[in-house]
Amino acid sequence: MQDREVSPTVQTMSDDDYVKFKNDLGLAEIGIGVKDFKCIGVSPPDDHPHIYHNMGDQDFIHCLYCNTKYIFRPYLGRSDTEPLGNLFEDNATD
Ligand SMILES: [Zn+2]
Repeated sequence: MQDREVSPTVQTMSDDDYVKFKNDLGLAEIGIGVKDFKCIGVSPPDDHPHIYHNMGDQDFIHCLYCNTKYIFRPYLGRSDTEPLGNLFEDNATD
């Protein structure tokens, strides 16, 4: 028998490709459309270390730094949040 070469779907996203979320309003929960992301806490310069989260089999995760509960909402887009306004875009050029 011949081993079939398996080519798993490798995610080769660079650090900057992860969508980042913030919680400037101190919300208890934020709905998001992705299961892996980075949380920065609040907008710079008061942001906490930008840490990567992956919900895995769960549909939510708590950020240990800012205690925000991120909940996976499959109907949301990659850059959508519920409520709106919690996406952090660090390539802003103003
Ligand atoms: Zn956080």
